[in-house]
Amino acid sequence: MPDVFADLVGQDEAVDTLRRAAAAASAVLRAAAVGPTTAAGDELDALAEESDGAQPAAVVDAGAGMTHAWIFTGPPGSGRSVAARAFAAALQCVHGTGCGECPGCHTTMTGTHADVRMVVPEGLSIGVNEMRALVLRAASTPSGGRWQVVVISDADRLTEAAGNALLKAIEEPPPRTVFLLCAPSTHPDDISVTIRSRCRLVPLGQPAPDAVAEVLVRRDGVAPDVARWAAAAAQGHVGRARRLARDPEARKRREAVLAVPRRLTGVGAAFDAASALIEAAEAEAEASVAEADAAERAALETALGAGGTGRGAAGAMRGAAGQLKDLEKRQKSRATRAQRDALDRALVDLAGFYRDALTMALRAPVAPVHTDTAALAGAGAQKWDAEGALRRLEAVLECRAAIEANVKPRIAVEAMMLSLWKG
Ligand SMILES: [Zn+2]
Repeated sequence: MPDVFADLVGQDEAVDTLRRAAAAASAVLRAAAVGPTTAAGDELDALAEESDGAQPAAVVDAGAGMTHAWIFTGPPGSGRSVAARAFAAALQCVHGTGCGECPGCHTTMTGTHADVRMVVPEGLSIGVNEMRALVLRAASTPSGGRWQVVVISDADRLTEAAGNALLKAIEEPPPRTVFLLCAPSTHPDDISVTIRSRCRLVPLGQPAPDAVAEVLVRRDGVAPDVARWAAAAAQGHVGRARRLARDPEARKRREAVLAVPRRLTGVGAAFDAASALIEAAEAEAEASVAEADAAERAALETALGAGGTGRGAAGAMRGAAGQLKDLEKRQKSRATRAQRDALDRALVDLAGFYRDALTMALRAPVAPVHTDTAALAGAGAQKWDAEGALRRLEAVLECRAAIEANVKPRIAVEAMMLSLWKG
């Protein structure tokens, strides 16, 4: 297995920060082993506090290296949870700072390390009970003698109560526990201001297409020309690039989206294109959640002992109706989210097309996002000029922003299609 940070694409600065932190964390453990009168957690606290004040340089360096709560932020596909898992492995590494070879690295990366818990919410939010159980387990002494690491991969999906339970744990951290949170940004909508203030931030940027292509070739065995095409078309989203390179259905959906500009020949065609885009997003979303929905319902019915009789059954059934209703509510909001995600991917593709037209109109020396529709974008550039291309690009970006702000998707997409047609 290669170094644990190998899959983190194009994030050199973040990797550097995390390696130094892992080295500092090891130093804390060594210090604790040498001086058993001082608990390692106290040392960590002391280091974190010292980093804020005026201290001798060596101490400040150590303090700047490690702390017990972190937030990884970055755009979708930049590798937030990949970074968090790699850092967890580096903290458990017994040879260095994430060698990839030792049992600590290996079991963390494969998800079997006893002291690393990855929280990946199945539903739309992480509830308070789940969080309390997690915080409780995280407080126990690490069985491997290093750290208890809790990775919360969608910290923006914490319910308010769950956030408060987590905050309490972060404010009074158990001595050997490290919390790694992942969120799109540190905007208060994503993460509460109080949690943010207790965490060190690791911002990830959008990786360059070359770096994405390189990892597709090296790790996924994708042919170099396909990898280059997919990386450019995915505009820095590693997971999306991988899907485009390997999934014919994803390529088909993208082609349908990129056919939109050609189809906008009148008002009626604009509305048709809007309907087609919405319906395609719905179908894609439905396919992506159907399996999970059915599995969850079956699991809940089993847990509730569907069809059971006896003294407990009546009471269980009274609670069951509420739980089923709860589940349906969660599934409905997950479906809505999946639809918005699918629609957003389509809009990002479409924005790439108009960006290509704009850069061509400006004769900017940059490679097109969509090489396969470059000729069409070139024709658009001639017809619309830079200004017209820019207006169209803005129409797509406004549509994304409107949907993000909870405007009904169909209304936002129809308005966009009309703007794209009229220019
Ligand atoms: Zn290792």
